[in-house]
Amino acid sequence: MRYLSADFVFPISQPPIKNGVVAVDDDGTIVEVHSPQSIVHSVERYRGILCPGFVNTHCHLELSHMKGAIPEKTGLTGFIQNFVAARKTFSYEQIEKGIEAGEKEMLQNGIVAVGDICNVKDTFKQKAKQNLRYYNFIEAFDFLPDNTEKEIQRVKSVVAELKEIFHNAEYAVVPHAPYSVSEILFKILTTISFSKSQKILSIHNQESEEENKMFIDKEGKFLKLFQSFGMDFSQWEPSGTTSLETILPYFSKEENLLLVHNTYSDVDDIAFAEAYSEKIFWCTCPNANIYIENKLPDYNLFLAAGAKITIGTDSLASNYTLSILDEMKTIAKYFPEIKLEILLEWATLNGSQALGFQNELGSFEKGKNPGVILIEKLNMENISLKSDSKVKRLV
Ligand SMILES: [Zn+2]
Repeated sequence: MRYLSADFVFPISQPPIKNGVVAVDDDGTIVEVHSPQSIVHSVERYRGILCPGFVNTHCHLELSHMKGAIPEKTGLTGFIQNFVAARKTFSYEQIEKGIEAGEKEMLQNGIVAVGDICNVKDTFKQKAKQNLRYYNFIEAFDFLPDNTEKEIQRVKSVVAELKEIFHNAEYAVVPHAPYSVSEILFKILTTISFSKSQKILSIHNQESEEENKMFIDKEGKFLKLFQSFGMDFSQWEPSGTTSLETILPYFSKEENLLLVHNTYSDVDDIAFAEAYSEKIFWCTCPNANIYIENKLPDYNLFLAAGAKITIGTDSLASNYTLSILDEMKTIAKYFPEIKLEILLEWATLNGSQALGFQNELGSFEKGKNPGVILIEKLNMENISLKSDSKVKRLV
């Protein structure tokens, strides 16, 4: 048994405890969270705060080799165009090395679980080592109904490879984004469902203003991008409303749904989604948003609506680190009014709930095994992050 203490303990499931002590079993199971007075054993004492391990609810580990390969701040359509060209230039050895290094980086940064997009089989061998807990999202995208059947076959073969390489993998087949999935494929993915045990869904949402323009009046850069790919959208009809209002009704209300990015979700979108389902999680990836669009979501809108926010790193194709702490620093820099206690809830408990891992991860509660991390070099006057705050995994 270890007794760990720091200036503050953030159990997440209860308010922070000054000089609190976490009692942890040899296998990492939380035995108890104590107030400082009630402890008689010898205690390992640290400067800073203790909190549960981070849950990264949106990553593409398979793109880890693409760090720095795509120029910044070109907008999403520019990013996609550059991405498609750049992706072809890497060898399998580079891809494999990137995946291994990417996972190692997440482990070092106190991440204990990941909601990971895997559209090809490249990450499966690494994941089968079970260094980190993964929920695997295999994305389908057909753009136009001509490609639907072929895409279903492709996705099925990725699922078969996942099951072969990583037997007890947790996974779901999910739509990629409103602009890249036809109506017919949406219906197949969200109502027929590929796996009976499928409990978690995910979709990239409103990452760019162009997505709304496409659905509202068939305008904007997406249609130009698709034309440059040789696609014929002449028969495609806009819905006349935002992308989120268009696609949300396809989704079951019974399953958790991670909406990823939400940079351009406004007050009406948030109200619409919150009224639609109680199982919606809004995953933010601030550093990727700055990298691609140079814009952040307005977090105050989500907080005012009581929405559940989670944090993701996105991939190294649009980020410089796979670190939830770095994402929190960016939010704290632009929204200093959001307290560290709230950011930690997004980074731990909310993420564990979104991925269905809340019985083991996300908070210091008796019987859970969430990992214990130390965050050092804080501003202790108001308990907030500094640009050089650091994370260390203790358990
Ligand atoms: Zn993504």
